[in-house]
Amino acid sequence: RQVTQQQQALEQHARSLEMTVLERTKELVKANAAKDEFISMASHELRTPLASLKGMTQLLHRRLIRSKSPEVPSLVSMENSIRRIEVLVNDLLNISSIEMGLFDLHRQKCDIVDLIQSLVDEYVFGTNPHPVIHTYLPPEPIEAEVDIERLGQVVINLLSNARKYSKVGSPIEVILQKQEQTYCLIIKDVGVGIPANELPMIFDRFYRVPGNDVQTGSSTGFGLGLYISKQIVESHGGRIEVESVPKQGSSFSLILPLPIIAAPTDSSTIHTT
Ligand code: ADP
Repeated sequence: RQVTQQQQALEQHARSLEMTVLERTKELVKANAAKDEFISMASHELRTPLASLKGMTQLLHRRLIRSKSPEVPSLVSMENSIRRIEVLVNDLLNISSIEMGLFDLHRQKCDIVDLIQSLVDEYVFGTNPHPVIHTYLPPEPIEAEVDIERLGQVVINLLSNARKYSKVGSPIEVILQKQEQTYCLIIKDVGVGIPANELPMIFDRFYRVPGNDVQTGSSTGFGLGLYISKQIVESHGGRIEVESVPKQGSSFSLILPLPIIAAPTDSSTIHTT
């Protein structure tokens, strides 16, 4: 009888534990949803005043340049700060759409070789001082169906990391290769590198390798770029890999699937006699 009583007490204890875990899980799910909604609302609300601030500073910039005002450098630093806030707001919007399951792709047919070349050009011309980028692209087009804007976001993010975590003027290599069922884009730098024990964390939200920004004097960044890039690449059915040696540099590879070409059916086979 004593054993049965003990068993009953244990079962009751297990049931109340189960209830507590269930209630705590429900509370956490609710709190998480509220957090996602808050991030989404706050970043949406920030976008409009930020856009008007950006517009006004651009207007002011043109006026100050025309009047050869000595205030131009202060305005340029203001514009840089606005750009940084804009990157953060866009990253937060991306995060909330990922978390809320609203992250969808708008795929379009395109030539990846062309796309990479124009992204590199856009990045070089839009960055001061212009980074040194050596591109190695195949001569033949690579036809694929991707979300051009989102994949572009990944490439620009990897290029800007390669520049941010290297000495000014260090060369960056961009290599695109077609394989049998995939194509691979490699972005290589000779920067500060990442210690092996940090590598598993760099794709986590808000994770930044301690000291990497100090080494290069670049303090900008929120640890969101690689997390978002990984989500974008995986939603295309691909993967992102990294190899890195501290003080020697890093190499990030995007491996993406080529479209599956249907085998010709009998009716489409050309017979020659
Ligand atoms: P951040 O905005 O901080 O650059 P990311 O998510 O893009 O965020 O990167 C996460 C962290 O990984 C960075 O803070 C940096 O410490 C490290 N990292 C990313 N790319 C490189 C690179 N090319 N070289 C060295 N460290 C890098």
